[in-house]
Amino acid sequence: MKKEYEEKLAAVAKGVWDHPEAGFLEFESSRIHVDFLRSEGFEIEENVADTVTGYVAKYGSGHPVIALLGEFDALYGLGQKADVAEYAPDGCEMGHGCGHHLLGAGVIGAGLLIRDYLKEHQCSGTVLVCGCPAEESGSGKAYMARDGVFNDTDIALAWHPGLLHQVGTGSSQSCIQTYFRFHGIASHAAGSPQAGRSALDAVELMDVGVNYLREHMESTDRVHYAITNSGGKSPNVVQAEAEVKYLIRSTSNPKCLALYERVCNIARGAALMTGTTMEIVFDEGLSNTIVNFTLEKVMQEAFREVGVPEYTEEELAYAKKFRDSWPHEFTMDNVGEHVKDKRALLKNMQESPICSILVENECSDVCHMGSTDVGDVSWVVPTESLGTACYSYGAGAHSRQWVAQGKSSIAMKGIYTAAEVLARTAEKLLEDTALIEEAKEEFKDRTAGMKYECLIPADVKPHVIS
Ligand SMILES: [Zn+2]
Ligand SMILES: [Zn+2]
Repeated sequence: MKKEYEEKLAAVAKGVWDHPEAGFLEFESSRIHVDFLRSEGFEIEENVADTVTGYVAKYGSGHPVIALLGEFDALYGLGQKADVAEYAPDGCEMGHGCGHHLLGAGVIGAGLLIRDYLKEHQCSGTVLVCGCPAEESGSGKAYMARDGVFNDTDIALAWHPGLLHQVGTGSSQSCIQTYFRFHGIASHAAGSPQAGRSALDAVELMDVGVNYLREHMESTDRVHYAITNSGGKSPNVVQAEAEVKYLIRSTSNPKCLALYERVCNIARGAALMTGTTMEIVFDEGLSNTIVNFTLEKVMQEAFREVGVPEYTEEELAYAKKFRDSWPHEFTMDNVGEHVKDKRALLKNMQESPICSILVENECSDVCHMGSTDVGDVSWVVPTESLGTACYSYGAGAHSRQWVAQGKSSIAMKGIYTAAEVLARTAEKLLEDTALIEEAKEEFKDRTAGMKYECLIPADVKPHVIS
C-alpha cells in the first residue's frame, strides 16, 4: 500500500481512537469517516436505516456491488492511556477495547484500493464502504439489513482486528437482548409488608426460574442476565421497580425465538407469583451467520498473496511488554479446532510476542459461541470476513491492553494488511465474476427453504437505552 494511504488511514484510526463513542452516538467518529471518504471522491448517504451515525459511501457504477462492512463504536469502562501495559485510566469514560477504530479505517483503506482498481480497469462495478454503527450494543447492521441497505449488493466483506492473521470460518449465534421491567408497590418493609409488592422479588424469582430452565436447553444455547435496576439501596422499602436485562442465544433465529418465549413465560410467572406487573422492552436482535466456503477460499488465496506484516525489533519488544502483562501459558487448548496446522500456531504463540504467521483454517460451519450483527448481513448477501493481528498475544478483546495498543505501529500494520486482503479478494471477484455466481449458489443452498426474518420487531427503531 502507498505510504500516502498508510498515513491517511492511520490518521483516521487515531482520530477515532481519540474520540471513543458509544453505539448510535458515534457522531465525531462518523464525521471523521464521512469527511475523509467525501474528500476521496465517494458519494455519501448518511443516516442510513434511521441509524443517524450510519452511512454508505459509494464509488463506481453497475454490478457487481461489493459492500465493505466498517464499524467505529467504543466500549464503556475502558478509558486507558495509549502504549501503557499496566492499568492506567486516561479519565475517559470509554475506550476502543474491540479495535473498531482500526476496523473502520481498514475498510476505508480497502475502499480506496478498490476505487483505484475500478478507475484503472474502467470496468463495471461498485464499492460501498458501509459505516455500520453500534456493533457492541445496538446491532446497527441488523437494522441496515432489515431495512434493505444490502438488497442490491452482490457480496459483503468484513474484517475484525484480533490476535491472529486468519480468514474467518464458522457460524455465530442468534441473540435476543431484552429488558424485563417489573412494577410493584412500595411500602414500609417492617411496618406494612403486606401492602407491598416487590419488583425485586419478581426479578429474583425470574432469575431462579431461568436457572432451572438451563437443564432443559440445548447445550449450544446460552442465557445470561444482569440486574440493571435492583430497586434502590433501602432494604426497609419494598422495592416497587426492578429490571433485569437478558441475553438469549441459540444457533438459529427460530430456536432463539422459541427460547426467548420460554424466558418470557418465566417472567410472566414471576410477575404472577409476586403480584407485580411486567413489561418487556425489546433491545436488540442479531441473526446467526451463514457461512460461505466459496468466499472463504477466495479470501484465503488473497491473504496468501498479500502475506503477513514483518515486525521490527522495536515492535517485537513493544508487543512483548503487553504479552507479559497478561501471564498466560499457551497450550493446545488455545488453538481452535479448525486450525490446519495446530502445532505451528502453538509454536508461534510460544516463541513470538505477536502472531507472525498466516493461520490457515479448514472451512467449518460449526457455530461459535457469541454473536455478531454481521450475521444479519450474511442472511441477505454472501458474506466473508478475516482477522489480522493488531495486538500482542495475551489479553483478548474488550481489555485495557487492546485499548493501549490501539495507536501502535503494530495495530496500523494490521489495518494495512486487512485493507489489502479485502481489496485483493474484491479484485479476484471482479476479475472472475463466476466466483460471485458460485458464492450466490452456495448461499441459496444454505438458506434453501428459509427466509431472513430480522429478530428486531418492525416497530423497534435504532435506539439507546441508558
Ligand atoms: Zn467487541
Ligand atoms: Zn468488535
